Amino acid sequence: MNKKSSSLKAGIHYLKNWSQFVDWFHDEQACRDYLYTLRWPNGFICPNCLAHKAPYSLAKNKLKCTQCRKQTSVTAGTIFDKTRTPLKDWFAAIWYLTNQKNGVSALGIQRLLGLGSYQTAWSILHRLRYAMINPERDKLSGIIEVDETFVGVLVNINQQDKKKFVVLIAIELIEPKGFGRIRLRQVDRATKSNIEQFIVDVIEPDSQIGSNIPAHETMPGVHRVASLLKRWLLGTYQGAVQSKHLDYYLDEYTFRFNRRKSRSRGLLFYRLLEQSVTTKPLTYKGIRAR
Ligand SMILES: [Zn+2]
Repeated sequence: MNKKSSSLKAGIHYLKNWSQFVDWFHDEQACRDYLYTLRWPNGFICPNCLAHKAPYSLAKNKLKCTQCRKQTSVTAGTIFDKTRTPLKDWFAAIWYLTNQKNGVSALGIQRLLGLGSYQTAWSILHRLRYAMINPERDKLSGIIEVDETFVGVLVNINQQDKKKFVVLIAIELIEPKGFGRIRLRQVDRATKSNIEQFIVDVIEPDSQIGSNIPAHETMPGVHRVASLLKRWLLGTYQGAVQSKHLDYYLDEYTFRFNRRKSRSRGLLFYRLLEQSVTTKPLTYKGIRAR
């Protein structure tokens, strides 16, 4: 169970600033210890038999369940599974990612970490974007607007062919004014069945849904999100968004939008790290296939 933000304290649970980052995460063990408390806030739970009992600590950072005797580690079964990149570098990448108002590029990560391989940087960034979708997130509720928008995306980076893609948007309206959380989904076409499926997947059944496709003027929330999203894609990716990566960008944007009021960057870092240890591993092949 995730801890409520109000119960978390800057400088104790999450970072205040970069100098604290350097202080806290001085070596791999310190990073592992921090991940341990995020993954098992109430003590170790064996991923195999679910026994809630402190494990044996073995060499090479292995943990052994005292009940079923299976071995595991704090990173096994998370997005850090089998990574050869030091956790310190992962943490630095997460700090960087959560501290940029706009999105970041794989090239930016490569430069930051001084990586020889662009592929490694690209894979880190995509795993983090994958972790940005909270695996346990709640559905939207209350008063919701649902509508579609079109995003211009490159179909082929070499030929610079642009094509419009349909993105479905759902946003919570807060009375008397203001917006809550959003969900986004790329679909082939805004058909009735696609929209209905989206509503079923992301919105609580007892919500009040306003959908007036195509009368956009009655939809201030989706309208706002659509224009912010387009501006963000343009500013961050200079319009060079490839269709096969659009889902990742939508996830990243959703994470940023839904935490826009987050009172600190350190808390954002905390949340993404927390999601990183509760998100299943993603292989390089899995990234390309998605
Ligand atoms: Zn066990």
